[in-house]
Amino acid sequence: MQETGYRRFKIESKPAPHAYPIPNKFDVSARKVRLAGMLLHEAFEYKFKKEVVLSRPCIYGVFGGRFGGFKPIKQKCVGCMRCVQEYPHIMRVKPSDEYKRLGDSFWTPEMVYTIWNEAATGKIPVKGMGYKGAFGGEGFDGIWTDMSEIVRPTRDGVYGREYISTSVDIGRKPVHVNFEKLDHTPTTLEVPVPIILDELPAGTESDDVSIAVDRAAEQVGTLRVTGKGDHSQANLPIVDEKQIGEYKQTPRILEFDAQEQGLLDKLLSDFGSTILIGRLPLKEDTSSMVSELVHRGVHGVHLYADYHGWDYSKEPRHISAALKDTHQQLVREGVRDQITIIASGGITLAEHVPKAIICGADLVGIDTTVPVALQSEFHGETQNRENCGLKPRKIDPAWGTQRLVNLMSVWHDQLIEILSAMGMRDVRRLRGDIGRSMMDSELREQSFKGIAWAA
Ligand code: SF4
Repeated sequence: MQETGYRRFKIESKPAPHAYPIPNKFDVSARKVRLAGMLLHEAFEYKFKKEVVLSRPCIYGVFGGRFGGFKPIKQKCVGCMRCVQEYPHIMRVKPSDEYKRLGDSFWTPEMVYTIWNEAATGKIPVKGMGYKGAFGGEGFDGIWTDMSEIVRPTRDGVYGREYISTSVDIGRKPVHVNFEKLDHTPTTLEVPVPIILDELPAGTESDDVSIAVDRAAEQVGTLRVTGKGDHSQANLPIVDEKQIGEYKQTPRILEFDAQEQGLLDKLLSDFGSTILIGRLPLKEDTSSMVSELVHRGVHGVHLYADYHGWDYSKEPRHISAALKDTHQQLVREGVRDQITIIASGGITLAEHVPKAIICGADLVGIDTTVPVALQSEFHGETQNRENCGLKPRKIDPAWGTQRLVNLMSVWHDQLIEILSAMGMRDVRRLRGDIGRSMMDSELREQSFKGIAWAA
């Protein structure tokens, strides 16, 4: 029986530890002779208490094994550097070579680790020790979100004292009521998170992976884009002209290749009440193509860049810039509110979701992040949609489902964090609100324009 009353949306996470061992992040080593000297000295100081002598100075238990610092338990090291600060003449801690080899030119080892741990625990990564990385960079790293006091940041949303909605609508919103043709069919579909699971990269989809993705989408209440023509509740199938006839009932939502001539008109005539989403690569002329599709009656567009987040223009732009272009073009034409924009490609970390929405997307599709969360192996570059360097490993579908649910849960929590910090109560309001962002490149230009650099 369906529960009555109000239910707050929450994705429940459960531990789903790594099925395959992951490399140590840090390589801890000690100069053995000096260590022996130090231990001898401390043995007298701590009155030969073995457990005290062998475990110091690491509170994380790296030296807590049988042989203490002579055989450190490297996987426990969090890189706090306390041992190096206390004993710089004995201890060495550096990123391990295996860790440095993770990922590709886009997926940094830090990103891979973040996704693995989010999928394993469902918890927001807490780095401690402060942020040690850069404050600007390429793509999404060059966009900062505005969390200044003036926007009334609050923790109420995070602690549940007030509700922040992360629901978005997919479909075409009517701009007026047509009394001649009153139709009660909903023209939009609501999903509780602005994240769907995009088509899996070529070569990463085994049967077990496919089951895991299906079940995760169903559990979360979102959609999973698939080219397989499967008609389950969570699926958002991509159809071509040949597959149209296979549908016995009118589907509620479909994606189609918007570059295929005449396909939209055929779909509109065959499936009058279906939400139709045109799939398009982001290029120089995407804005005008989307504008034309809107006028021809499409309900939404799914714009995609390559898996590293670069569009398919002759001079590739980052997906954030390409999205902004299309969004602003539709705003200028006064039609932006009519359709939904789904964006995918290079959206691989939790913070990329609000940033893509700020740039004009209603919601995002995640792609390579899914196989990474399922511990697929990197066999080269992942940029190319036809030849992605990720290879799946054998998984248990139940384990895979939980990993993906955990990932969605922790991304949802981080989205709440960011909306809360911006004083926003609804993710729909964030769409295209570039006033809530600062661009690293623009700030640099404003601050340093006209100042000569010394070589
Ligand atoms: S860096 Fe920190 S966690 Fe790692 S071994 Fe040293 S004290 Fe322990």
